[in-house]
Amino acid sequence: MHKTAAAGPLRAPVNRILEHTLVDGPGNRTIVFFQECNIGCRYCHNPETQRMCIGCGSCVDQCPAGALRLEAGRVIWDRELCVGCDTCIHVCPHYSSPKVTEMTVDEVYEEIRRNIPFIRGITVSGGECSLRLPFLQELFARCRNLSLTCLMDCNGTVPLWDEPVMEVCDGVMLDVKAWDEGCFRRLTGAGNSVVKENLRHLSEMEKLEELRIVCLDGWVDAPEVIRGIAQTVTEKTKRETLLKLIRFRSMGVRGELAKAPSPSGAYMAELEKLARQLGFENIRVV
Ligand code: SF4
Ligand code: SF4
Repeated sequence: MHKTAAAGPLRAPVNRILEHTLVDGPGNRTIVFFQECNIGCRYCHNPETQRMCIGCGSCVDQCPAGALRLEAGRVIWDRELCVGCDTCIHVCPHYSSPKVTEMTVDEVYEEIRRNIPFIRGITVSGGECSLRLPFLQELFARCRNLSLTCLMDCNGTVPLWDEPVMEVCDGVMLDVKAWDEGCFRRLTGAGNSVVKENLRHLSEMEKLEELRIVCLDGWVDAPEVIRGIAQTVTEKTKRETLLKLIRFRSMGVRGELAKAPSPSGAYMAELEKLARQLGFENIRVV
């Protein structure tokens, strides 16, 4: 599962780095979005981060700024010419982007360092950041030397509890996308036994920064997810870890859920009530 370079410095495909975010962990943070995911959520809001570019060239002629060209079967993106219209992303049939950059730990670190003293930490996301654990281990170790906290925003399908990266990771923001295996598989194309194991281990290790449930009635068994989490995590996690109940929104979503309506306020209030009844104390509906 780990992707490492055969030799030389570790590299990873980076979709983009946002200098500042206030919604991906506590305080002001820099967030790094890695390219490529190991599952395919039907409600994904960043579908262009799911796959690696296969160099098909479909986006090249669509670019209004001439910022794309094909060379030896690879698409080349000219950052200077790009006007950021995102046409290439919308026309890509492969859930990818031509604007992905292979970066070393040094290069990502230097971009982060520029944002000091305005940030309190970093968050890594995706795509799926846990496909890059050796890279993250090195990046986090360096960032912690700058007194930055390091969080991972994960889908939970990669086992984390025994990984050395956890020694330098301050916490995981774990998506629990569905509880019933069939429901999870219909939504993502994968199974969820590892997600449940991560949930249990990370709770015991006190490494759960945030638990996230995207709520979409008919697709996500949100009441079962809340019950399942309540039965799996420690009492301390229920008291302290933020449980974020996220109302599904269709912005950016492709395919059959592109026009699915958001759940009602009444439905979200019911879920919040259930979570409180089961002992969660730090709940946010967004
Ligand atoms: S975002 Fe994509 S399509 Fe738009 S200018 Fe940049 S490379 Fe071209
Ligand atoms: S970004 Fe998508 S459309 Fe463009 S070359 Fe890569 S796979 Fe093809």
